[in-house]
Amino acid sequence: MAPARPGPPESITCIDCGGECHRLGDEPEMGWEPGDLVVYRCRDCRDRWDIVVDADDLDGPDEPSF
Ligand SMILES: [Zn+2]
Repeated sequence: MAPARPGPPESITCIDCGGECHRLGDEPEMGWEPGDLVVYRCRDCRDRWDIVVDADDLDGPDEPSF
């Protein structure tokens, strides 16, 4: 089943060491909303990254931005 709309990625690249940071926790039942806090943990340096979802993250591919 495809998600209703895209949200924050499952993983991001660590700003410090370039390692892979995996998202902690699951997608909210009601889907992502702007202002939601997403936490990532780097598997290499164990740094924690808190990312706040903004509306741009939720723009779907059906809304081309160009
Ligand atoms: Zn790192």
